[in-house]
Amino acid sequence: PVLRVAIMGLGGYGTRVAEAMQACKMAKLVGVVSGTPAKIEAWKTKYGIPDKNCYSYENFDKIKDNPDIDAVYVITPNGLHREHVIRTAKAGKHAICEKPMAVNAKEGQEMVDACKKAGVKLLVGYRMHFEPHTVEIIRMRKAGEFGKIQFFQGLSGFKIGDPTQWRLNKKLAGGGSMMDIGVYSINGSRYMVGEDPIWVTAQETKTDPVKFKEGVDETITFQLGFPSGVTASCLSTYAFNYLDRFYLVGEKGFAELNPSTGYGPIRGRTHKGELNQPVVTHQTLQMDSMAGIILQGKEAPVPVDGEEGVKDLKIIDAIYEAARSGKKVEIRL
Ligand code: NAD
Repeated sequence: PVLRVAIMGLGGYGTRVAEAMQACKMAKLVGVVSGTPAKIEAWKTKYGIPDKNCYSYENFDKIKDNPDIDAVYVITPNGLHREHVIRTAKAGKHAICEKPMAVNAKEGQEMVDACKKAGVKLLVGYRMHFEPHTVEIIRMRKAGEFGKIQFFQGLSGFKIGDPTQWRLNKKLAGGGSMMDIGVYSINGSRYMVGEDPIWVTAQETKTDPVKFKEGVDETITFQLGFPSGVTASCLSTYAFNYLDRFYLVGEKGFAELNPSTGYGPIRGRTHKGELNQPVVTHQTLQMDSMAGIILQGKEAPVPVDGEEGVKDLKIIDAIYEAARSGKKVEIRL
């Protein structure tokens, strides 16, 4: 079986996913949704997409009557994910949505509910959940090779450029670095530790209030507490580079991913030595795996469903509240 996918949003990441999908065995790019006719023309030629599978944001709801498309991959700015996924669900198509799934947990829950009501699947574009070094560390942790887990550190960030881009626009981005890159440390702390956090504390710093306007976070450090007593210490920033590292500590050993979430190659090391897992194109593996989840009911090594997306959004909501109030905030997932 092959999952026939339309990509919505032909920007930087949509282009990367389309390229990677050329090597997929179980997923195929068959359609596009775009507001830019010139991009549609270029993609039609490059990927052999027929006219009847091309949509604009205005006429996209007609995809309902197209039997040749199974799923829509929403790769638009964060603030539009809610509308785009709910329209996809109403058209009876499965939705794959980029991270962050929405701009807050309430919107995320609405998306989960809409997909449930429509009887379609909702998956979040969490590509690391399939990445071999990551999956191997999770296997080792479950097998007890690190002993009792004690601590996690997640560092996620990069120096952002162009001040006019949507990523620095509160309405389209939903926030700042936390929405875009900090979410990797949040999500990573959960799959590395193997628990969901129950409290958070957070501190925000801003060096450039002109570039990073109200509601757009530049740098946030945050701490998560887990039921077993494990704590995590994480950083999310748009202000500096060389930050893409996960470090997990247990009574019997450690695991390091560095880089941990970049497009690759990922490198991993534990107390037992280098992890020499295959180097893969994350998006190719992700899309083949997601086809298996949607078409064959397979399970992901780490869940990638809408409920997972909502959990991360609840943590983001709590981090923002903790940074604002200066207080420890409880999290109920
Ligand atoms: P981008 O700016 O390169 O592309 C966004 C696309 O959305 C553009 O083609 C733009 O034309 C379109 N768009 C539609 N309506 C728009 C509107 N009202 N305003 C602005 N643009 C509009 O951004 P990107 O880097 O491709 O990011 C898109 C999504 O993908 C984001 O949610 C981002 O977080 C996610 N992303 C995920 C990864 C990953 O590794 N999983 C990597 C990069 C981006």
